[in-house]
Amino acid sequence: MAIKCIGILTSGGDAPGMNAAIRAVTRTAIYSGLTVKGIMRGYRGLITGEIIELRTENVSNTIQRGGTMLKTARCVEFRSREGRQVAYETMQREGIDALVVIGGDGTLSGAREFAGEFDIPIVGLPGTIDNDLNGTDVTIGYDTALNTIMDAVDKIRDTASSHDRLFFVEVMGRESGFLALNSALAAGAEAAIIPEFVTEVDQLAEFIQNGLRKSKSSSIVLVAESEVTGGAMGLAERVKKEYPQYDVRVTILGHIQRGGSPTASDRIIASRMGEAAIIALLDGQRNIMIGIENQEIVYVPLSKAVNHEKSLNRATLDTLKKLSI
Ligand code: ATP
Repeated sequence: MAIKCIGILTSGGDAPGMNAAIRAVTRTAIYSGLTVKGIMRGYRGLITGEIIELRTENVSNTIQRGGTMLKTARCVEFRSREGRQVAYETMQREGIDALVVIGGDGTLSGAREFAGEFDIPIVGLPGTIDNDLNGTDVTIGYDTALNTIMDAVDKIRDTASSHDRLFFVEVMGRESGFLALNSALAAGAEAAIIPEFVTEVDQLAEFIQNGLRKSKSSSIVLVAESEVTGGAMGLAERVKKEYPQYDVRVTILGHIQRGGSPTASDRIIASRMGEAAIIALLDGQRNIMIGIENQEIVYVPLSKAVNHEKSLNRATLDTLKKLSI
């Protein structure tokens, strides 16, 4: 069946650059003679029927804005077969032939379930600050979040060095240390404590032994929020007990990491990926995520995108260690 109408939604955690992606999908679809319907609040909009038509002017003046103009939500109902049945019926009623979903691991897992049960072409775009999707070098929002963290750590550095303090700065990243590791490198921090290596080494003990030199007036350690690392608070408690000679402080960056105007890099990848999503759908592709590898657009099966295989480049950790002496 020829695709005439595309539905688009953003789901899960918002990420800067989602608006640029919505704009690119909308404009490429209209350019290709399709109609576009914006589904509000992620999968919830498919259940409640909160859907608006998107015309080219509706996405004007949005490329520079953070957040998502379609809103986002976490939708429990969509996790059940009954909920997805309702979502399918909404699509039928609205005449939506195919979906573009923008979100993280959960959003694309939901897309995979949905596409497995109903005959709907779905293309996913990786929209998450965590960069934890497999098959793409970068995700939409990751670069902006990295820059936000870097700016915050630069400011923390001023006060840390004035007081000779050890700062743990907690950043987002659940089970994945991309944000912590690469923002540590970008901000010239002394170490990053990330979930990937928790079972291999005691990263705190290693940092204290290797990194914290007397010649340094202060130290900043980036910590992924993950429960496995203990988070910044957990690590600070340990330092107070095990290494009481250090004057330790904690900053939890929290939701500030999600906000702000997307960087040029995020706007560019969102625009390229958004265009690619429509080209792929019109080309008969389905149930894939659009990724970018080595600067080129790639098509990644949804099953591969969400299989938690994406690994950090270990060499980056060594680089950080060398540069923090
Ligand atoms: P972020 O990485 O920024 O947190 P995310 O897309 O991983 O974003 P989730 O809350 O995990 O965010 O997922 C978003 C939504 O996707 C959920 O609220 C739910 O509606 C749907 N979803 C997630 N996993 C599944 C699943 N296995 N089956 C069906 N739907 C799912």
